[in-house]
Amino acid sequence: MRCGACCAAFRVAFHWSEADDAPGGTVPVELTQPLRNHERAMHGTDSTDPHCIALRGTVGESCSCSIYALRPSPCRAVQASWENGTADPHCDRARARYGLPLLTPVDWIESGN
Ligand code: SF4
Ligand code: SF4
Repeated sequence: MRCGACCAAFRVAFHWSEADDAPGGTVPVELTQPLRNHERAMHGTDSTDPHCIALRGTVGESCSCSIYALRPSPCRAVQASWENGTADPHCDRARARYGLPLLTPVDWIESGN
């Protein structure tokens, strides 16, 4: 809710069947674009300056995913560094891109999580 850096740092690509025009798919297809064979990407992320179309708000201040419950698998795979006891390189790279301090184990102790 206060970061969102990883939603505006990488190409978010996934198998086409995760889009909701496929049986069992969840990701709104209109928010995606075709990519390579068998893949789609979130609009706005196949760019040198990625920014997912589903991201609302301002990175590093206040933001949210407008399709959180429907988001694709790569978004579910990224974990905030140290939330589960290890650093996540994607989280760290994304936060560094925006000049945000890398998360540390202490952040989770202080948050009570
Ligand atoms: S779908 Fe949501 S979680 Fe995934 S990159 Fe876009 S805004 Fe972020
Ligand atoms: S996983 Fe890391 S980069 Fe992504 S929103 Fe959470 S803290 Fe920010």
